[in-house]
Order: sequence, then C-alpha cells, then structure tokens
Amino acid sequence: MKQQGSIIPPHVLIFPGPGQGHVNPMLKLAELLGLSGLKVTFLNFQFIHDQLLLHADIEARFTKYPGFQFKKIPDRMSVPRAERPEDMADIIKDLIERMKTSSKTLKKILVENSPPIDCIIADMLMGFVHDVAKEVGIPVIPFENASSCSFWTVLSIPRIIAAGELPIKGNQDMDRLITTVPGMETFLRCRDLPTCCRVNDLADPKLLMITNETRESQALILKTFEDLEAPILCPLRTRYPKIYTIGPLHELLKTKLRSIKKQESYSSLNPLWEVDRTCITWLDNQASHSVLYVSFGSIAIMTREQLMEFWYGLENSKKKFLWVIRPYSVTTNDDGVEEIPEELQEGPKERGYIVKWAPQEEVLAHKAIGGFLAHSGWNSTLESIVAGVPMICWPCFGDQQMNSRFVSEVWKLGMDMKDVCDRKVVEKMVNDLMVDRREEFVKSTARMAELARKSVTEGGSSSCSLEHLIQDIKSMSIDRHS
Ligand code: UDP
Repeated sequence: MKQQGSIIPPHVLIFPGPGQGHVNPMLKLAELLGLSGLKVTFLNFQFIHDQLLLHADIEARFTKYPGFQFKKIPDRMSVPRAERPEDMADIIKDLIERMKTSSKTLKKILVENSPPIDCIIADMLMGFVHDVAKEVGIPVIPFENASSCSFWTVLSIPRIIAAGELPIKGNQDMDRLITTVPGMETFLRCRDLPTCCRVNDLADPKLLMITNETRESQALILKTFEDLEAPILCPLRTRYPKIYTIGPLHELLKTKLRSIKKQESYSSLNPLWEVDRTCITWLDNQASHSVLYVSFGSIAIMTREQLMEFWYGLENSKKKFLWVIRPYSVTTNDDGVEEIPEELQEGPKERGYIVKWAPQEEVLAHKAIGGFLAHSGWNSTLESIVAGVPMICWPCFGDQQMNSRFVSEVWKLGMDMKDVCDRKVVEKMVNDLMVDRREEFVKSTARMAELARKSVTEGGSSSCSLEHLIQDIKSMSIDRHS
C-alpha cells in the first residue's frame, strides 16, 4: 500500500516509564504529535492508567485528536514507594525487573493492534520494549527522560571504570574529581555522579542497572534544548547521530497550541495526584517574588529528621514559603504511619502554606514565586528554567545529582545543597537565594529563560527538532507501507 500523497496518517505508539516524571512529558509529546495529525496510541501499565483516570479527565482531553487511544498493560504492580531514602535505587531496580515480565503482552499488542503501528517512542528505561519491537520489526525511537548531562555520564561509566575512577571509596572520597567524562573534566565530583554510581563494589548490580537498559540506536529524543546542553550534546551525537532536542516540552506544547488556535488554551496536565488549587489563591495575596516554592517531586522520600531540618530552616529564614508535602514522602513509623510532626500537621502560622500536590507549572510561573527549593528532578528543573526561577537543589536520586551540579556550577542558576540537610544551611541558602545573592542569580535565570522560550518559538531549535521528528516518522511510515 503506497502512502505517499494519501491521507493515512502515521500511527505512533508511545510508551512511558511508570512514574509521574515519565508520563507527564510523554503525554505532552503525544499531544504535540496529535496536533500534527499523527495517530497516537498511548500505552501505560494498568496501575498508572488507573491513576490517570482518578485525577484528570484524561480521555476527554485527547478525544479531539482523531485516532488517539489509550491502551494498558494489565499488571499487578503498584506505585513504587520507598520506606527509606536509601532504598530508592533498589526500588527502581526492582521496578525495571518487574516491567520485563510484560514482554509477552506487549508483543501481542504490537502485533495485533489495529491500525498497525508504524513506529514506537519508548522510554529508554525500558530496554525490553526495544527488544520486543526489534523482534516484531517495528522501529523504535528511544526517549531519554533524564538530562543529557546525566545520560552522557551513564554512557561514560565503562570509561570511568576503565580509568580506575570508580568505585567510590567511602564518604571521604566523595569530593574527588572525576576526569574521564568528556565535557565535564573540571567540575564533576564523585558526589555528582548519578546515584547508581554510589557503590563501593563494581559488581553491585545497581551500578549497571541503567546502562543495561540502554540500547544503541540511530535516533534519540531528549527533552532538553540546544542552548542549555550544547557542549554535552556534541559528544552524545557521536553515539546517537540523530538527536531530537524537543524540550522544554510543556513550553513547546503551550507555544504550539497558542500559534495554532491563536489563543492561550494550554492547561498543564500533571495528573497522577489530586491538585490542590487553593495554593494559587494564597499566592495571589503575596508580594512579588516573596515566596519560596518547596517541592521534592513525585517519588523522593525523606526521613522525619530531614523534614524537621527543612521546617526549622524555612521558619528561621523568615521568608514565605509554599511547601508540597506529598503523601508517602516521609518515612513511616513501625505502624506504617507517616511521621509528620504535629507542628507541621497544624500548618505553619503566617509565613507558610502546605499542600499535598500543587499545579507546579502554574506555581512556578506565578509572580509571587521568587525561588524554588527542589530535588532537581529533570522536569522540575526545566520548568524552573522556563519560569526564570532560581533554585536551591537538594537532589535525592538518579540524574538529580548531576542536574544540581549543572544548575550550580555550569548554568549558575542556583545553589547545590546535596548531601547536607541542616537547618542552618537551609536558612542561609534561602536567604542567599531570596535576598543576598538574588541579583546574581536572577541575571542568569532571566537569560536562560529567554533562551528556553526562544527554542520553542517558530524557527527555534526545539521547534525545528520536533518538525524533523514528525517528518522522519512520516518517512518511516511511508517506507513501511511501500
Ligand atoms: N509536580 C506537580 N505538582 C507537585 C509536584 C510536582 O505537578 O506538587 C510535577 C512537576 O511539575 C513535574 C513532575 O511532577 O512535572 C515531577 O517530575 P520531576 O522530573 O521533577 O521529578 P520526579 O517526580 O520524577 O522525581
């Protein structure tokens, strides 16, 4: 069947990893492809799909795109929850292993789906999807959910090991410079490496869990933008010749919707938890740039002691704050109850406002926000960059250790508080960010925000990259049908 000149649109299957930070950007990509007339099937694990339905009218939002469908892989999985911060790496490793048991079901979906699938966009975290797709002969474009700086470092792990720079030899070794990651020779320390590298033994399976999922490919989608990570994208292109840099995705989608419909019709969709919008009303009553937004994303967990250090640090800083304390984000006691101290349950008196889940993109864009105390998740980092909000980084796991180093040392968009959780340090950094060093940070955040916004306008690097991706998917589809 020749498709050239015909009106049959290519059919793309999108399969994100099972987590808020993975599903959100892929939903945005799905909407961008839908806007360009591509047919999209959005595949999720059942437990993620159920959560999406619970907190957002997700199906209604996508009915406007002809041929759009949600599909799910039945599973017995549940939202991964760590009991203790140090369990995060094991939880992720376990999740990656459990996902692999879905290979057979996935194969059936890929073979039997109607209309047939022309191309798959799948999270790089799920190597099994790439293997199954290869078996049934459907091309896959991997989507890397982490920052390029982190991904490039993960790819460089064999080189770091060969140079004898890994393993890390205990706590006293954490400030040692790692000199063998091209592009980062002068500022990368052991403590900045992705958390999978925090092992004393080269045989530790956590060390290679991410590299084991990584597949070689001609193409790669990254949710970054050229002006942000150019020096790292350059060596990455030696491994993945065709890289589509289409970030920040929320801003790209917002801009496209605006240009197509000539009106602002974008509403953020981060739907795995119920959003508490009362914080926007609270923000409306605060002075410009007076509030610090505090959130550690959708998975990170902290101990009761850490929570209290933040609490006293924030209170003592005397600055206003909006704090997201998500359910299951604090360690539980022996009865399985989260150890949120009474002071916090009662809520801060004047200066603070606490919610379980906020409309984060909207919060960061609010004029009252002057800073972001964050865990340096890649989505949160990009959202903060677009909004021009300086950051204090308290990274927890994964690529966050790398992102926070780049935020502080390379892009100069804030400060890195990694591996420290002390009320005095919190207080000092909050005051530095909001007052004492504010001018210095605002200069660089404003510049980077402008570059981010430029990248998504017509002719900008991310906008052009998306067009190339769409054209390449169309060509793939024509090739498959000719
Ligand atoms: N988020 C949100 N409301 C909140 C906290 C987070 O909508 O109260 C969103 C945030 O905008 C981001 C995502 O959740 O898009 C978190 O992704 P990130 O990569 O920053 O961290 P992860 O949750 O994967 O650790």
